[in-house]
Amino acid sequence: MDKYTLPRGTQDFLPEDTRKLNYIESILVDAAHLFGFEEIRTPIFEHTPLFTRSVGESSDIVNKEMYTFLDRSNRSITLRPEGTAGVIRAFVENKLYAKSDYPLRLYYNGPVFRYERPQAGRYRQIQQFGYETIGIKSPYMDADIILLAVSSLYMLGIKNYKIVINSIGDKESRNKYKEALKEHFTTHLDTLCEDCKRRYEQNPLRILDCKIDSDKDIVKNAPKIKDYLTEESKEYLNAVISLLKMFEVNFEVDDNLVRGLDYYSDVVFEILSYTKDGKDYGAIGAGGRYDYLVEEIGGPSLPCVGFAFGVDRLRLIMEDYNVFDKLQGEFDCYVMPIGEESLTYAYQVTQYLRGNGLRCDLDFQLRSFRAQFKSAQKKNATFAIIIGSDEVKNQTVTLKNIQTKEQFTVSVNELIEKIDQYFQELVMRQYQENEHGCDCENCDCDHESDGDHECNCHHHHH
Ligand code: AMP
Repeated sequence: MDKYTLPRGTQDFLPEDTRKLNYIESILVDAAHLFGFEEIRTPIFEHTPLFTRSVGESSDIVNKEMYTFLDRSNRSITLRPEGTAGVIRAFVENKLYAKSDYPLRLYYNGPVFRYERPQAGRYRQIQQFGYETIGIKSPYMDADIILLAVSSLYMLGIKNYKIVINSIGDKESRNKYKEALKEHFTTHLDTLCEDCKRRYEQNPLRILDCKIDSDKDIVKNAPKIKDYLTEESKEYLNAVISLLKMFEVNFEVDDNLVRGLDYYSDVVFEILSYTKDGKDYGAIGAGGRYDYLVEEIGGPSLPCVGFAFGVDRLRLIMEDYNVFDKLQGEFDCYVMPIGEESLTYAYQVTQYLRGNGLRCDLDFQLRSFRAQFKSAQKKNATFAIIIGSDEVKNQTVTLKNIQTKEQFTVSVNELIEKIDQYFQELVMRQYQENEHGCDCENCDCDHESDGDHECNCHHHHH
């Protein structure tokens, strides 16, 4: 028989992985809400021309990386290779511009697909958490979305990162710049890779992005976009930079940053991160301003700025810094019927607890007390609820705290009250411990220090 395996570049997210992803996504949702964003969900596939048009014919994504196929009615369909085009299509198609109060702030979270060569930190199904703000051109908007990214990273507990920023100007400056690049590369075409020869014809800006050629002197010595920017674009970039400085954002201007998608204009940025031993998975997030896209897709002329995190890479970085060490599955009660005559009653108790909002499971196999108790520990339950023949007879249960081993027998009516009381006391205890303060400079939680002077709490509960 054939073995079935994962398609290259995809991943299975097992429960322990999904737990981490849920944790990341819940923090990103919290941060997005803090900044006034609301979620939008658009289809995972769209008509192909949406992407060829917006991401651009000259981009690597459109040229080499799209999952494009004909559906059964011979329509050309593409699995979305990025999130922005679909969001803007939905904005235009649903005429949100007629009722929007600008800026409109939208976030999305879902998979995008690119046929790239898989390696560590590079997949073919990529989870992107992205943000779009529509309608306002102001340096405050660009700074705001960068500060949203910074706040999100802070809440996630990622400290090792650097933001690189640049301006690629308006269309006019960029066209002049492209001419200058063509002139620069014209006599050196034979030293460039095959893709760059195509890029030279289609869009020489892309050469600066090339993974193969970017280290060559001919690329390093190429003219810089900054010498082709209009005064307006330069001032705009500087205004964004002043705002970033005001909030002490760790950033650098990178003259060579041009970004691989066609729809960008003016300010573009990327967030780079690296592991403890300096491993670089590539950017953990990227974005920029796109002032022409809404109009190109058929809407009114509306300036926008957007950004997307690569959730897979956030997770890799967070794993490397042991951010997830204390993250465990949460489970309240494991119900343990001892003996066959207890099973029905134990199942009734389980359903009763679930009905009262407690996370429960029970043993259906009537295993030994020891085996069942082990399962309760493995599931990280707070309580074991032991039900033997006495409990059935008296309509009681024995509640055992798995950590402290404390136990007492209560009637089913008292059960919920007892459990609630325990959780309330737990919260009170944690609150009192917090009053002592912790030595972490960022917060006042009661988590242990990781030896590096800072704790691992990441403020999820703040
Ligand atoms: P982009 O749409 O190319 O600007 O990508 C936004 C973010 O998605 C990047 O900064 C990465 O974090 C992530 N990303 C892009 N491509 C991949 C990939 N092949 N594998 C994993 N993450 C990716």
